[in-house]
Amino acid sequence: MNEFSLIDCYFKQRALHRPDLIFGIGDDAACLRIPAHQDLLVSTDTLVSGVHFLPSWDPYDIAIKAAMVNISDMAAMAAQPAWISLALTLPELNTEWLEAFSKGLAETLAPFNIALIGGDTTRGPLSITLNIMGLAPQGAAVRRTGAKPGDRIYLSGSIGAAALAVDFLYDDSINPEDKQILMKKLQHPEARVDFIPILRQYATSAIDISDGLSADLNHILTASGHGACLDLNKLPIHALVHQYKATQAIDFALKGGDDYELCYTIPAEKEAAMREALVQSGLSAHCIGVIEAQAGLRGLTDSGHIIALEALGYQHF
Ligand code: ADP
Ligand code: MG
Repeated sequence: MNEFSLIDCYFKQRALHRPDLIFGIGDDAACLRIPAHQDLLVSTDTLVSGVHFLPSWDPYDIAIKAAMVNISDMAAMAAQPAWISLALTLPELNTEWLEAFSKGLAETLAPFNIALIGGDTTRGPLSITLNIMGLAPQGAAVRRTGAKPGDRIYLSGSIGAAALAVDFLYDDSINPEDKQILMKKLQHPEARVDFIPILRQYATSAIDISDGLSADLNHILTASGHGACLDLNKLPIHALVHQYKATQAIDFALKGGDDYELCYTIPAEKEAAMREALVQSGLSAHCIGVIEAQAGLRGLTDSGHIIALEALGYQHF
């Protein structure tokens, strides 16, 4: 097997087709037809071995994670993911690894109707870069810039479990069933594309939680030019974080990344309608705070005090 039969066998044959994909894998570039009155949104995420995943992980799980973190970026923009390309760097031609990886990738992309349209395959230290493209009606993409004082801050699900999984990565002293739940949170995050209609209709800003709630919310605050106060008692923290880290639960929720839930802001006067829309869609989200004119991130404690919070999260440099 060489580079080209590898691409054909593991990626081309497994790629799904969409009518807006004129041609994909096999030419020097793919050709896409963007529907009229739609905007194209583009995003890239790289996963490096030893940083975002361990080389010992099942390649099937690595593929799921790589795809989901990219799909999550589209969800955070309220864009419907449509096409993806893959730049894959492998230390060796390992057919077993490729079989599991390409299966995980195809199985993750299929339910979202995302077509793999091309890529690049090279030899070197294991790393996976996906370039994802999605569509939104013209002007409907939700940015980080639109939060206004008085807006309510919402979170699409519970947080902290993925960071707890990282904490227990080399620790097998915890209950194996709990460890399995945590590893699933870390390896198989669920991109919240189910929130796209809610974001398009109500959100003034949105972001996905990749580095940690405080760091990611702070991106919204900086981009929007405002501050926020979080109700620290209302953070939807995963039950296992409470169980294993009772005294540090809020820290895990604020600083722990990898959850890929969505944090979004909505105007206070639309809150009732948004909550009704959530119920209609079978979704749940939690109000965790409010945008304020005063810059900076603050937190309301259970004793009723307001404390300054640091915008801490994962940073590569
Ligand atoms: P070129 O030499 O013109 O850069 P390549 O030989 O790198 O082309 O790739 C041949 C075709 O296979 C291209 O259409 C490219 O997009 C696609 N491709 C390469 N690697 C991958 C991959 N890992 N997954 C999907 N498509 C790939
Ligand atoms: Mg190439």
